Amino acid sequence: MKGITILGATGSIGVSTLDVISRHPDRYKVVALTANKDAERLFQQCQQFEPEFAVMADDHAAARFADLLKDAGLQTRLLTGAGALEEVAALEQVDFVMAAIVGAAGLLPTLAAARAGKRILLANKEALVMSGKLFLDEVEKHNAELLPIDSEHNAIFQCMPADFVQGMDEQGVTKILLTASGGPFREMPLDQLADVTPDQACAHPNWDMGRKISVDSATMMNKGLEVIEACWLFHTQPDLVQVVIHPQSVIHSMVQYSDGSVLAQLGNPDMRTPIAYSLAWPERMVSGVESLDIFDVARLDFQQADLARFPCLRLAYQAMEQGGTAPAILNAANEIAVESFLNNELSFNKIAEVIEATLNASNISSADSLDDILAADSQAREQAAGLIH
Ligand code: NAD
Ligand code: MG
Repeated sequence: MKGITILGATGSIGVSTLDVISRHPDRYKVVALTANKDAERLFQQCQQFEPEFAVMADDHAAARFADLLKDAGLQTRLLTGAGALEEVAALEQVDFVMAAIVGAAGLLPTLAAARAGKRILLANKEALVMSGKLFLDEVEKHNAELLPIDSEHNAIFQCMPADFVQGMDEQGVTKILLTASGGPFREMPLDQLADVTPDQACAHPNWDMGRKISVDSATMMNKGLEVIEACWLFHTQPDLVQVVIHPQSVIHSMVQYSDGSVLAQLGNPDMRTPIAYSLAWPERMVSGVESLDIFDVARLDFQQADLARFPCLRLAYQAMEQGGTAPAILNAANEIAVESFLNNELSFNKIAEVIEATLNASNISSADSLDDILAADSQAREQAAGLIH
């Protein structure tokens, strides 16, 4: 029986994770669930899974949640305040931590899971983008395990040789082919991009996700963050990670080998597959996802990514090549710009402009310590907000 903490339980990934776990009550016990503001949903989840602990980050929501717990007479203990997320990520009775908080807010609790030597199921790509080497060093130092939940990285992990940590090159891997749907605006005339609304941007053709990652998919910053994520996870550099537009989202990514082989992982676009894979690894188990009907799919298309249409992708490659705090700055500026877009304060095509201007105005330094990274993050947020308002 493995004990699990789910950071970000009320989000899209959190809900899918609980769905998979509910199919295997003999294998997994939910120890802690966390959320930001959605007291009602966290309460329902506590009724169903009876965790020992719950964390509600927002104070108002925590008060409402405490009332709900009390009225229902549930045994779940509510933890609040700074440090509560880190505490439940590091509990002794926890074996696995699902890191599914969106954005930089997930960095410290995910790091706490690494320092406590847990198996980390990493959905929160922003944490790795910000802290790259530091995060991997903590994983190694504390004997933690890192399994990617992002569907592309999970696919790459499945197609990689077992010893890829020794270096892709030595293992005969020549390239990673990172697939991307291209989002909802792949074919929209460029001059119409200024007028798209948050709801249009969040209507992803193939995946049902939280609003921030949906906007990132529409700008393709999501793919940019994933290029950086792939470089860290698979110990490689950006020029060996090629983005391939594949509108059907059936191939979740590919690995190319020196003998001419290309291995791919295919499946229906449903996050329960990578979640179940990472929970059960190295075994396999039922996820609730139906098998792919390849006759129904019938055809698979591939295109080059257009960097003029998707400047965020270009900026992410540049930031990774620059290194140091550049990826953290890129991520922070993107978070601010996307939030402003979702609040109708910034037009869609200005998101990339804000990020580029923030990067140009920032001093890039080394990202050796958490202090360096957090300082770069908060300065970039201020800079980006100043540019917008
Ligand atoms: P979501 O918006 O649906 O859920 C986010 C979760 O984080 C919620 O539970 C929310 O309560 C919590 N949260 C938000 N801000 C917080 C804060 N300040 N403090 C504490 N908790 C906070 O997002 P999602 O789509 O589930 O994505 C979660 C992460 O997984 C993101 O990093 C995303 O990039 C990644 N991811 C998601 C998908 C997907 O299909 N949804 C796929 C790949 C990767
Ligand atoms: Mg992805």
